[in-house]
Amino acid sequence: TDAIPLTVLTDWLHRFRDAVVAQRDWLTELDSAIGDADHGANMARGMTAAVEKADQTAPATADELFKTVGMTLVSTVGGASGPLYGTFFLRLGATLGPVSDVDPAALAAGLRAGLEGIVARGKAEAGDKTLFDAVAPALDAMDAALAGGASAGTATADAATAAATGRDATIALVARKGRASYLGERSAGHMDPGSASATLLFETLAAAVAG
Ligand code: ADP
Ligand code: MG
Ligand code: MG
Repeated sequence: TDAIPLTVLTDWLHRFRDAVVAQRDWLTELDSAIGDADHGANMARGMTAAVEKADQTAPATADELFKTVGMTLVSTVGGASGPLYGTFFLRLGATLGPVSDVDPAALAAGLRAGLEGIVARGKAEAGDKTLFDAVAPALDAMDAALAGGASAGTATADAATAAATGRDATIALVARKGRASYLGERSAGHMDPGSASATLLFETLAAAVAG
C-alpha cells in the first residue's frame, strides 16, 4: 500500500483540532455528567496551541511534528487528557522517526506505541471506561485490515468505526480510572468523554487519509 505523506499527517492534526473545537461543548457536556466539565476546553485549548506551534515551526519530519504536538499538549493542558494525549503523540513521533513519508504499517505500529504510552502513564485496561476503550479496538481493527491487505484508507476507516463502537460501549461501563471512577456505579449510563475525543482522533485520521 501507498506511503502516507507528511502533508496528510499535518492535515490530520488540523482536522482533529477543528473537530475538538467544533465538539467542545459536547465533550464538556459529557465530562460534566461524570467529571469536572473541562474535557472540551482542555482538548480545544491543547490542540489549538499544538497546531499553532506545529504551523509556526513547520516540521519536515514526522518525529518533529508529533514531538511538537505532544510537548505542547503536555504543557498547555492541566487535566488528565494533556499528559495522556501528549504521551500518545510523543511515542507516535518517536516510533515513526525522522521520515517524511509513512508506510501504513509503520503508522499502525506508531499508533500502537502511542497507546502503550497511554497505558504506561494511566494504567488503564480494557473496560475501565477511558479513552483506551476507543483507541485499543481502533488499533486492532486497523491491524486486522492491513494484515488482510487493505489500503490505508480502508484500514483507517475501519479504525474509526471500531473507535465509535468502543466509545458507545463505554456508556454501560462503570469507571475504574480517572475522575469518573469517584462516582463508582453512578458513572454507568454516561459516555466517557475521552473515548469521544479519541473517536474524533480516528475519524479525522480516516478523513485526512481519504483526502
Ligand atoms: P480531567 O479528568 O483531569 O479533568 P479531562 O476531562 O480532560 O481531564 O479528561 C478526562 C478523560 O481522560 C476521561 O474521560 C478518560 O477517557 C481519560 N482518562 C482519565 N484517566 C485515565 C487513565 N488513567 N487512563 C486512560 N485514560 C484516562
Ligand atoms: Mg475533566
Ligand atoms: Mg479537569
